[in-house]
Amino acid sequence: KDSHQNSASVRFNSTLREKIERKHSLEIMLGNADFSREFQLYFQPQFRISDHALVGMEALLRWFHPHQGMISPGEFIPVAEETGIILPITEWVIDQAYATIAHARKASSLSIQMGINLSPKVIETADLLASLKQKEMRHCVPPHWIDLEITENSAMSLHATIEGTFDQLKQSGFTISIDDFGTGYSSLSYIRRFGVDRLKIAKELVDHVADDRNSQLIIKAIIMMAKGMNLRTIAEGVEYQDQLDVLKEMGCDEMQGYLWGRPVPFETFKQQYLS
Ligand code: C2E
Ligand code: CA
Ligand code: CA
Repeated sequence: KDSHQNSASVRFNSTLREKIERKHSLEIMLGNADFSREFQLYFQPQFRISDHALVGMEALLRWFHPHQGMISPGEFIPVAEETGIILPITEWVIDQAYATIAHARKASSLSIQMGINLSPKVIETADLLASLKQKEMRHCVPPHWIDLEITENSAMSLHATIEGTFDQLKQSGFTISIDDFGTGYSSLSYIRRFGVDRLKIAKELVDHVADDRNSQLIIKAIIMMAKGMNLRTIAEGVEYQDQLDVLKEMGCDEMQGYLWGRPVPFETFKQQYLS
C-alpha cells in the first residue's frame, strides 16, 4: 500500500512540476513574442436566431509560435493575465479588431458589431477608455460598433473597481456583454447597475440544453429574466440543431457556435459572411 501511495505522489509531483515548467516557459515565450508576426485574430460570427442575420463577430486571439505551433488562448491568456503582458496584448487586439471592423463595415452594409474580450486586469489597471478613444480616432470606428465582453466571474470580482469604468464606457456608446453567464456567482443587481446590454449564456449550460432538465430550467430562467430587463441573450457554443431548436423555442435571441460558424481569419470571414 505504501509503495502505491509513493508512486501516486511521485506521479502527482511530476505532473505538477511539468505544469509549473510549462507555465514558466510560456511566460518567457510570451515575453519574447513578436506580436505582429506570431499573433492573429480569428473571427467567429454571431447570428440572430429568428432570421439567421449576421449581428456580430467576436475577435478570438490565436498564437502561432514559430517552434511550438498553435498555442490555445485557454492556455496562454491566464499566464498573460498573471504576468501583466495581457496589457500590451490587449492593446494589439483592440487595434487589430478596430481595423477589421472598419474593413468589414466597408465591405458590407450590415450593421454588425465587433466583440472584444477584456480581462479583468485590463479593466482594473489600463486606461481602457483612453486607448479605445485612440483607436477610435485612428480607425474611424465609433463606439457603437464595438461590444465589450467581460466574464461573469470577473464582473463580480471587480464589482466596486469597475463600476465607474463601466459607466464611462456605456456613456461613450459601447455595448457590454457578460460572457460565460450562468456558471459563476450571479447577482442580478450588478447587471442592472452596470448597464449590461447582453448576456452570453455559457457553453457549459448550452452543451446540455437538449437533454438535461436542470440546464433547461436555468437557461429558461436566464432568458425570462433578460427579457424582463430588456437585455438580449446569445447562446455560445451551439453545435447541434437540436440545441438550437430548444433555444429558439425558449426565446433566445442570438447564437454563436460551430453549427453556424467557426472562428476563421478575416479573409475567410469576408468571403463567407460579408459577400
Ligand atoms: P470565450 O470568450 O468564452 O470564447 C468562446 C470560446 O469557445 C472560443 O474558444 C471559441 O472558439 C469557442 N467556441 C465557439 N463556438 C464553439 C462551439 O460550437 N463548440 C466548441 N467546442 N467551442 C466553441 P477560444 O478561441 O479557444 O478562446 C478561449 C478563451 O480565450 C475565450 O473564451 C476567452 O476567454 C479567451 N480569449 C480569446 N481571445 C482573447 C482576447 O483577445 N483577450 C482575452 N482577454 N481573452 C481572450
Ligand atoms: Ca468571449
Ligand atoms: Ca465561454
